[in-house]
Amino acid sequence: MSSSIMRPPGKVTDDYISEVMTIVKLKNPAEPEFHQAVQEVFESLRLVLQKHPEYEAARILERIVEPERVVMFRVPWLDDQGNAQINRGFRIEMNSAIGPYKGGLRFHASVNLGILKFLAFEQVFKNSLTTLPMGGGKGGSDFDPKGKSDNEVMRFCQSFMTELSRHIGPNTDVPAGDIGVGGREIGFMFGQYKRLRNEFTGVLTGKGLNWGGSLIRPEATGYGCVYFAAEMLKSRKDSLEGKLCLVSGSGNVSQYTVEKLLDLGGKPITLSDSDGVIYDPDGIDREKLAWVMELKNVRRGRIRQYTDSFKKAIFMPTDIKLDHNPLWNIKADCAFPSATQNEITAKDAANLIKNGCKLVAEGANMPCTLEATKMFLDAKVLYGPAKAANAGGVATSGLEMAQNSARLTWSREEVDDRLHKIMIAIHKNCFETAETYGTPGNLVNGANIGGFLKVANAMLDQGLV
Ligand code: NDP
Repeated sequence: MSSSIMRPPGKVTDDYISEVMTIVKLKNPAEPEFHQAVQEVFESLRLVLQKHPEYEAARILERIVEPERVVMFRVPWLDDQGNAQINRGFRIEMNSAIGPYKGGLRFHASVNLGILKFLAFEQVFKNSLTTLPMGGGKGGSDFDPKGKSDNEVMRFCQSFMTELSRHIGPNTDVPAGDIGVGGREIGFMFGQYKRLRNEFTGVLTGKGLNWGGSLIRPEATGYGCVYFAAEMLKSRKDSLEGKLCLVSGSGNVSQYTVEKLLDLGGKPITLSDSDGVIYDPDGIDREKLAWVMELKNVRRGRIRQYTDSFKKAIFMPTDIKLDHNPLWNIKADCAFPSATQNEITAKDAANLIKNGCKLVAEGANMPCTLEATKMFLDAKVLYGPAKAANAGGVATSGLEMAQNSARLTWSREEVDDRLHKIMIAIHKNCFETAETYGTPGNLVNGANIGGFLKVANAMLDQGLV
């Protein structure tokens, strides 16, 4: 008989969860983002473990926090001056209980093991929610594409893929893009993989349309997040029509969030990058959005340039001495954090709530601190957690994999329709799971529990592996 069975009911779960959390912190020191992501999921799982002691008996929590495999490697490349540069590459293969590892690659100076482990952990639950058969993974490098020439980016991507190609494959692990990895980088990596392996397979998603990519994949995360927000509002008999919306970031997710908000009658009024925030009280319309897309995707410029062309807009430079981000202190109805982790702190959450914000839909991964999340839930703000709200990107990657396997392509309308239906299904699952577990309206619990159950049950079925 295990010692846990000897404990009084009710205490079992608390002790088990805090024991595993202690182990996570001891075994993974100096990885605060990973601890944060695990803590958030574990808080929700208290409700499940009370009903299902079999997960504790099979040590599912200890297993689900331990990556199946971590690959870390040297990435040497030559810059345009002929100097040797060395970066570090990673791939975290977190969990393959329900399908091949799937998750993006991030190229950003801040990338480290802990950040990628948090992202890979989140990805496991997110992919489970999509209803598609995908396990969870994440990878990347501390290489920063900003300010590098196309040739430098190509040489880096080729070197990165030379090692990564040993560990991935269309039935093993299928990476995609993330921060700093868009169509250009996926193209360079796909080319190198094809050359090394002498095979044309769907080993990456987010590919170009002429070589296996899916229509709507670039749009999918932003579109999906707005579809999810619309479902949240619908649950309160409301809609996006006429809503003032704050959007952070100005990359892939932000751009298509703005586009879909415009489609559904919302009025986006902000964007940002690491240099600062632009606020356009007249709203970012389609013409201005096209200008931003050209600035960011072609000229690779900075968001402050927006105010040179659109005179009524103001630019607020990033000020590290401030205790809050001014973007989240602008009066609006809805917030779409779409840049990076922990971009909404408790102070930012207080500002949003004070200004009457009704909805937060997370386009970025873990953009809210644990304190901020709790404040939104307590204030009954409609709160769409990342693993549900931004799952449209990976869901459409799953659709790209399906099209690659079948060697056919679906129309734009067909993919968009499937994406929309998946987002509606994810919202329904989260909403109903939250109710089943006694916390109606709490989509954090709904997403964590809904995502966990499918993976945990598959792990039980497959034995101790
Ligand atoms: P991009 O690289 O296209 O854009 C990222 C944007 O966020 C840029 O404007 C960037 O500004 C800003 N940003 C990044 N890091 C920071 C930072 N530390 N501080 C301030 N601003 C920052 O990335 P994506 O749009 O693809 O990704 C954005 C978020 O969405 C990430 O959290 C990602 O994990 C998540 N996500 C992306 C998916 C996808 O399909 N692409 C899928 C699901 C989630 P700057 O240029 O100055 O760095």
